[in-house]
Amino acid sequence: MDIQLSGIGMTSARTRDRLVQRLRDAGISDERVLDAIRNTPRHLFIEEALAHQAYDDTALPIGHGQTISQPWVVARMTELLIANGRPTKVLEIGTGCGYQTAVLAQFCDALYSVERIRPLQDQARKRLMKLGLARVQLKHADGGFGWKSEAPFDAILAACARADIPDDLLSQLADGGRLVMPVGGDRQQILTVVDRDGDQFHVQSLDAVRFVPFQRGVMR
Ligand code: SAH
Repeated sequence: MDIQLSGIGMTSARTRDRLVQRLRDAGISDERVLDAIRNTPRHLFIEEALAHQAYDDTALPIGHGQTISQPWVVARMTELLIANGRPTKVLEIGTGCGYQTAVLAQFCDALYSVERIRPLQDQARKRLMKLGLARVQLKHADGGFGWKSEAPFDAILAACARADIPDDLLSQLADGGRLVMPVGGDRQQILTVVDRDGDQFHVQSLDAVRFVPFQRGVMR
């Protein structure tokens, strides 16, 4: 899926190039991912009062106690998800404002994204439509159960942290597929990659990260 950039008032190329350089310096090396970050208008995903910080490499509040992920984290997770080749069908848990969704959509044919807070999902839907990403499927549900009717997925990304990886997410991962998720408690989490090989799940613990918690149930 390609994003449409006409009529959305992109900020200066220099501002976006500065962010890309920062991510490069911080170890992001996949040029496809850096291009996607450059092309995705992050300022459209946050409220106007914070727009001047849109291309800083920081998480920012999006309401309801949630945050838009830090660009480095979005880049890192995306890089890990596509490292073994382009996934066809991807599941995302924690749509939030839809920024990671918009980046991810550029690397797969079908994207399914679950969010438990209804107003965030409604806003994300509008933004994704505006960018021509209406084909992304959004669901208001507890992502801890995955999206069973659409499983299996070649790749699964969770943007919220939990001490354990939900069994439903592991079982909905296709053979040969990869899951990326922050694992840990409130204060300390490790970005974790799980590769499925038949009934075997190979786990790698990578970077220290900080995400909002993976919560249970839904909010209207
Ligand atoms: N990538 C998003 C990250 C948002 S923060 C962005 O850049 O905006 C993580 C999101 O996960 C929050 O919106 C939170 O509501 C959501 N979340 C937490 N637990 C969840 C669950 N069990 N199911 C679905 N979404 C969940």
